[in-house]
Amino acid sequence: MDAARPTDSLSVRANALMAIAALLALGGAAPAAETKSSSEAKPDMAYIWDLSDLYPSPAQWSVAYDALKVRADKLDTYKSTLGHSAGDMHKALDAISDVHRALARLSTFASLRADEDSRIAENQERKQLAVALSTLVDEKTAWLAPEILSIGAAKVHEFETQDKGLAERHGFSLDNILRAAPHTLGEEAEGVLASVGTVLQQPNAIFDALTLANMPYPMVKLSDSTEVMLDQSAYEKYRSSGNRADRRKVFDAFWKAFSDYQDTLGASLTTQIMGDVFAAKARKYPNALSAALSPDNMPESVYRTLVAQAHAGLPTLHRYLRLRKRLLGITDDLAYYDGYPPMFHLANEPHFDVDDEKRIALDALAPFGAEYLDLMRKGFAGQWMNLYPHPGKANGAYMNGSAYDVHPYLLFNDNGDYESLSTFAHEWGHAVHTLLTTKNQPFEKSNYSTFIAESASIINEMLLSEYMVDHAKTRDEKLYYLGAALESIRTTFFRQVMFAEFELALHEELEKGNALSGERMSEIYCSLLKQYSGDAQGVMKIDPAYCIEWAYVPHFYYDFYVYQYATSMAGAAQFTDAIRKEGAPARERFLNMLRAGGSDYPYEIYKKAGIDMASPEPYRALIARMDRLMDQIEVLEKTH
Ligand SMILES: [Zn+2]
Repeated sequence: MDAARPTDSLSVRANALMAIAALLALGGAAPAAETKSSSEAKPDMAYIWDLSDLYPSPAQWSVAYDALKVRADKLDTYKSTLGHSAGDMHKALDAISDVHRALARLSTFASLRADEDSRIAENQERKQLAVALSTLVDEKTAWLAPEILSIGAAKVHEFETQDKGLAERHGFSLDNILRAAPHTLGEEAEGVLASVGTVLQQPNAIFDALTLANMPYPMVKLSDSTEVMLDQSAYEKYRSSGNRADRRKVFDAFWKAFSDYQDTLGASLTTQIMGDVFAAKARKYPNALSAALSPDNMPESVYRTLVAQAHAGLPTLHRYLRLRKRLLGITDDLAYYDGYPPMFHLANEPHFDVDDEKRIALDALAPFGAEYLDLMRKGFAGQWMNLYPHPGKANGAYMNGSAYDVHPYLLFNDNGDYESLSTFAHEWGHAVHTLLTTKNQPFEKSNYSTFIAESASIINEMLLSEYMVDHAKTRDEKLYYLGAALESIRTTFFRQVMFAEFELALHEELEKGNALSGERMSEIYCSLLKQYSGDAQGVMKIDPAYCIEWAYVPHFYYDFYVYQYATSMAGAAQFTDAIRKEGAPARERFLNMLRAGGSDYPYEIYKKAGIDMASPEPYRALIARMDRLMDQIEVLEKTH
């Protein structure tokens, strides 16, 4: 699976959580930000995935489940045997790994079936069984990391020299466990930390309860006299209104509702940040950021370079906002509520059926070469996709590649528009990444990081966008695709970096010994929002009433998660440029990055592919791309 697509909305909450669960389980799916209602009456079975590749029938799944439960139950018999010899360690790790591999296949079937139709109780029960089995496996192997740490690096490395197979298959996971030694405490302290874990998750539960259930959302009357209850999905719909008075009204009402709960939402988020800071300190990390980046072994300099380079690129963002102001025909100050209406319209919106999508994706991704395209064709020939919305089906879009021995599955809610086409290319990027990984890596090294995964998918969106611009038949069509590409850089890069910077600022306030509150958060957010929007330069005027926006972003409860959207897009931009310029050598470096799967830390995998994510280059490549898109728009405008 791979990570939630960038978003600023609450409605993708479930998807984002699913992505987190996926990160814990296998690491990578991309639920799309957009949610679509399941309106079609009956699903066409030709567009429903065939899960018999996983298990011929639900009954077979149950048989496999019972067998695996027996194996899982026995995993603690390996306890205290790993230090005996290289052979003993190898045998135990193989047994544990094989259970994980079978579990991933079982869980994939359960999860995909559940997403087909949430109204079928049997499917939900199967999913619960899979979760319970996963918990059992965790319990039966909880001793593993402590045991390896107590054996120590010296002996583990000696075993690896004696048994090449041990090193080949399990070397990376062993290194990953040993890396935690300086942050692992004594048995008593570890016990205390384990039991405080559920307490630290409660702020997120408070946030959910308030914003998804208890908060009263306001009613507004729009210019055409329709009355709308502004919950989150209505807010996301009506903020794009072409009527300026309407979108202002929508903003005023929606953010007022959040402002009424500024103290409560501030207290909840403060508690979350306090928990992050506490856990980092307890585990002897220098700060909360380094603790959060530690699972990926990601240098802090990547995060700090990202923020610095986004600031260096603000003139480009401001150029975009000035362009937006001109195109929307706004004569007074551009306001924050002017950020969402599309800049370009087409009289007839393009429509793509699934055959168009396949053909265009293959054409647009031709720069990746024969192997890549063959893998896509192989996928298209199989019944791997659940394509169209239907009642009961899960929202959004994702790729699930957890069943190592089978093949990826993909879920969409395709409605034939350009965004659906773009999502199609995005998710197939994840699928081919998975196929290249399983072809080249053992199961134990197939768990790739979100940091890499999102580059593998966003680069497809970029190539698709270039292709659509190149093949557009009219000037208006070209402008339409150029506009979409600009919006995607604004929301996936600049907006996410602003979130990342805000998140860092909150943690650093507490680390400096300062107090936090909802009011203080709005102050910090206002200052960032004004900088990014060019308030002082007169680019966009920020009304402080909208500085409560932080209060509705669920991602701030995910401990430094959003920065990966922005880094991934920057890495994809540098690769796209290199492939255009150099051709085959750059393409091979990119494909080798996908083939590497989870065999190394993501920063290192990137570096081997010739890109240093702690250097300014990738971020500069993306910002230069944004400028080029605007250059193209300005040239086209003159050819009126
Ligand atoms: Zn994705």
